[in-house]
Amino acid sequence: MADDLVLDVRDLRKSYDDLEVLKGIGFGLRKGETKVLIGPSGSGKSTLLRCINHLTPPDAGRIFLAGEEVLERNIDAMRARMGFVFQDFNLFSHLTVLDNVRICQIKVKGMGARGATERAQQELERVGLADKAGAYPAELSGGQQQRVSIARALAMDPDVLLFDEPTSALDPELTSEVVRVMQALAAEGMTMVVVTHEMSFARRAADELIFMENGHIVEQGPPEQLFTGATSERTRSFLNVIA
Ligand code: ADP
Ligand code: MG
Repeated sequence: MADDLVLDVRDLRKSYDDLEVLKGIGFGLRKGETKVLIGPSGSGKSTLLRCINHLTPPDAGRIFLAGEEVLERNIDAMRARMGFVFQDFNLFSHLTVLDNVRICQIKVKGMGARGATERAQQELERVGLADKAGAYPAELSGGQQQRVSIARALAMDPDVLLFDEPTSALDPELTSEVVRVMQALAAEGMTMVVVTHEMSFARRAADELIFMENGHIVEQGPPEQLFTGATSERTRSFLNVIA
């Protein structure tokens, strides 16, 4: 039943002109679940995440967040309930770390400055950056910037967090500090969809892996099942190359 799903994506379709990028994608996410989305470059992973919160409007299909349908007319409210973490951090360069984290709470949620500041400080602590509140993004490493962007998403108290290759712009050393934060979130019961090539994260943190290719979900299941006994030859060969 769909009722206990935090995120319920049904038969999502998207084309760019003649190029069919999503060919009927459906999956669900229960509260506290982490699903890791993998697949070759160009398979539609980013488009899928972007369609979920209408950063890219889908052509067809339905999306439900905690039972409520995501529609053009409620999109602002729905977006506020879905945290998005991008590959390139998307921080405001002219704002301090603290302001980056609290601006959406104030502007979108209408929170008071005091409450927003408190929450922002809590979330910065959670990602290990309490001491950087007054810094500007350019003064931080890529890994620190990405952790700020995660704190910003968390401060909105989202129903679900969507990550699109959060570590692919980072050196291996900086990748691990971001992966550790994501692993802690998964362990704490955050509900998340993570597009990543970090297979160690997938093994440790994913409840399920979803393998996508050419606009379709080819296979999904618990990581061990996919790593050791994928039924599709395509999944097996992809995992052999990447893992
Ligand atoms: P992935 O994230 O899995 O690498 P994407 O969702 O970014 O895949 O892209 C899927 C396909 O859609 C690719 O062929 C890509 O070139 C195409 N595509 C993505 N965004 C656009 C766009 N805004 N306009 C036209 N084509 C796009
Ligand atoms: Mg992508």
